Amino acid sequence: MNSPSESTHRSADQTPAGPEGPWQEVAPGIYRLVAEPDAVTIGLIVGETGALLVDCGSTPEQGARLRESVAAVTDVPLVGVAVTHEHRDHWFGLAAFDDLESWGHEMLEHRISDAGVLREAEGLGLTPEELRLPKNMFSIAAAVNLGNRLVEIVHLGHAHTLTDAVVHVPDAGVLFAGDLVELPHPLMEPESSPRGWPATLNMIIGMVKPDTIVVPGHGDVTDRETVVQQLGALAQLPYEAERLVREGVRFDEAEAKGEWLLPWDRISEGVRTAYAEMTTEGVRPHLPLA
Ligand SMILES: [Zn+2]
Repeated sequence: MNSPSESTHRSADQTPAGPEGPWQEVAPGIYRLVAEPDAVTIGLIVGETGALLVDCGSTPEQGARLRESVAAVTDVPLVGVAVTHEHRDHWFGLAAFDDLESWGHEMLEHRISDAGVLREAEGLGLTPEELRLPKNMFSIAAAVNLGNRLVEIVHLGHAHTLTDAVVHVPDAGVLFAGDLVELPHPLMEPESSPRGWPATLNMIIGMVKPDTIVVPGHGDVTDRETVVQQLGALAQLPYEAERLVREGVRFDEAEAKGEWLLPWDRISEGVRTAYAEMTTEGVRPHLPLA
């Protein structure tokens, strides 16, 4: 089950990765489990000829345990890993899969040497040499054939991070959303795009059917209606930030003076980015004349 508290990616430095919960079947041949310390969702998609892991845990050791755990639910061989984005709990375990295929967005190549990413690795006791790029990097989309089952891995734009990908299994009606969808609330990081994120959720709503099962990066399995709700809450943020900027409200007053639809601790970094974007794009506070 999920951690009762809202998880963040940054909360558990120096905590060893683990434990990992049991696999739960969410649709025929599709599984998920929750791995600590970040309560991240790991997915498993089983086809006739191969199985694909969605994300790979926080460390190579955790990745190795996840790999071993696949045998508990299927005899079909694991053929690869799809990485949904650059955050540690989704990506840093990839070195445990060096002999298999892996897929991820091409911007991971830039993020692997980013100072913040390397600090996160260090916090988990990892050296830069223990991080891995996916073998197959794409700009828009990749497809993985698991025999009777085709998996689509799709980048919809800059949202939670620059490297977000959703993993869609059309025949099963399941979408692994990565951290584009989190329950109970999405988490905006400094690298998130306040304007891009709602646009990607809009595309997800167009991709899936009303009865598609949506598997968030953190939190219980949910549905398209949740994506619609989170789209509404996130779409309001840049407009509210712009209203405040135009009224001359400083960022350090924005929490108190804004009408926010999501908890401040989940969106403050997004509001900060929205403020910065308006400053660079020339929106200035309209101040009353003296
Ligand atoms: Zn994330």
